[in-house]
Amino acid sequence: MAGRGNGVPNKSRAMNTGGTGPAMRWIFGDQLGPHFLDRDDEPVLLIESRRVFARKPFHRQKAHLVLSAMRHRAAELGDRCEYHTADTYAEVVQGRKLSVCHPTSYPARDLLRRLPEVEVLAARGFATSMAEFADWARSRGSKRLLMEDHYRVARRRIDVLMDGDEPAGGRWNFDADNRQAPPKDRRGGGHRASGISASGIGSTGISGSGIGVAEPWWPVEDDIDEHVRHDLDRWERSGDVRFIGRDGPRRFPATRQEALSAFTHFVDHRLAAFGPFEDAMLADDPWMAHSLISAPLNLGLVAPLELVQRVESAYRAGDVPIASAEGFIRQVIGWRDYIWNLYWHLGPEYRRSNALHATRQLPRWFAELDADATAARCLSSVLAGVRDQAWAHHIPRLMVLGNYAMQRGWDPAEVTDWFHRAFVDGYDWVMVPNVIGMSQYADGGLITTKPYAGGGAYIDRMSDYCGGCAYRPTVRVGDRACPFTAGYWWFLNRHRAEFAGNHRMAQAVRGLDRLRDLDALVDQEEQRGSDAP
Ligand SMILES: Cc1cc2nc3c(=O)[nH]c(=O)nc-3n(C[C@H](O)[C@H](O)[C@H](O)COP(=O)(O)OP(=O)(O)OC[C@H]3O[C@@H](n4cnc5c(N)ncnc54)[C@H](O)[C@@H]3O)c2cc1C
Ligand code: SF4
Repeated sequence: MAGRGNGVPNKSRAMNTGGTGPAMRWIFGDQLGPHFLDRDDEPVLLIESRRVFARKPFHRQKAHLVLSAMRHRAAELGDRCEYHTADTYAEVVQGRKLSVCHPTSYPARDLLRRLPEVEVLAARGFATSMAEFADWARSRGSKRLLMEDHYRVARRRIDVLMDGDEPAGGRWNFDADNRQAPPKDRRGGGHRASGISASGIGSTGISGSGIGVAEPWWPVEDDIDEHVRHDLDRWERSGDVRFIGRDGPRRFPATRQEALSAFTHFVDHRLAAFGPFEDAMLADDPWMAHSLISAPLNLGLVAPLELVQRVESAYRAGDVPIASAEGFIRQVIGWRDYIWNLYWHLGPEYRRSNALHATRQLPRWFAELDADATAARCLSSVLAGVRDQAWAHHIPRLMVLGNYAMQRGWDPAEVTDWFHRAFVDGYDWVMVPNVIGMSQYADGGLITTKPYAGGGAYIDRMSDYCGGCAYRPTVRVGDRACPFTAGYWWFLNRHRAEFAGNHRMAQAVRGLDRLRDLDALVDQEEQRGSDAP
């Protein structure tokens, strides 16, 4: 059906259906910004496929955001856009003269290979092209593809935060300044934002920042959102589709204008605090000073270089410290592009890596985001955030959710699939390397030199979770034993052989021999297994 009953104007199917005219630009749902088009009058094809949501249970708020963004884009494009709701892409595009920018997943790439009449253009929406990355990877020979090296090459090439040939501020890396624990007087959370009040920017019902920065900018829903909500309710009632997570106000931008407003607010009011507290976690403040830009960025509403240039300008104007500007730019042209390019560089089989032979199934309480099932405050709090917002910042993803999954030996492919479905910014390209490589060490160390495994001491140092928890981060065995601390040793013990030869892990493995309660700990954790702690 072409654009009917979904809040976007009905469009004619008659235009540009093959023939000899110029090719119509087909855009996928994550190619929604102007940089995916070449001309101001270019006709555009957008296809909404309900079947995508019928295949597996996605988070309700993720489904809402994606549909809302697509329908908003169609409404913006007006008569230039031909909007279809269809079961499959192929039924709309087969036999038509179309061009499309390189898609963001292997399944979509394979589909395009079966459609020879569709012209596939180079990928857009990233700062380092596949060709540039391939050249760099080749130049490394047998040396490891280090993120830091990729990032420095990109900084020089793009000429961002550079003073001539030297990095601005005299250093490439300000991580040492940035990894601060949350301020002691802010632990316990719930402190109100200083500077900007929440009035006029909507409300999430979530308390203000625990680190004294303004609350993020929140969008206001409109008629298109109402249609989306109505459709999702209807699909769910009919049993065609099942979601996980709770519905709630849309918190992430669905239009380019919203994304730019949100980002301007971040640069003006929150970026200065981004660096120092990048890695910190507070129970009452899921957002901290993070940008929340991954969702609109991954939808293609904004382009990475425009974000990076704004941040550089704020630094050059003296509005934000170098450590915060560099910390943010490193995430975008460093980490994000590195992950994107590794996804393609490592090939389609990479997702099946399972170097640690982890085969346990994801337990139901975790898969269904049942935050109340566990008394472990960190886990419960982060899981509740995913249930309510479909989002958590980097450290809860890596050191709470991912860490727990790895310690328990959950199947990395299942973990990847869960992250993909549960997070508002989750797409195949970004989840596969982040989960398989970064978080689960399932590639045996291609991306990271050691597993991101940590016990309760790390979580205690970087958060205020442990104070109100039923467990104690220092206790390994017994009723109060922290499942992360015990889980860490249990994990190391299971993988002694694999890690003994890793010089970054050898000391930790030797630590096992000093644990007099190791047998009791192993019994305890084997009994606990994947049950909610
Ligand atoms: C297990 C795991 C799963 C993740 N899954 C996703 C995902 O599905 N989608 C996603 O965009 N990011 C993912 N990340 C990376 C990162 O956690 C999120 O990009 C970030 O938390 C999003 O919040 P933000 O926009 O406020 O980011 P900020 O902290 O403000 O960082 C700025 C931007 O940097 C980029 N970035 C930083 N690190 C990464 C990274 N490792 N990979 C890709 N981009 C990065 C993002 O675009 C992000 O918006 C994952 C990380 C881990 C450890
Ligand atoms: S004691 Fe352990 S389980 Fe409890 S919050 Fe701290 S790290 Fe999490």
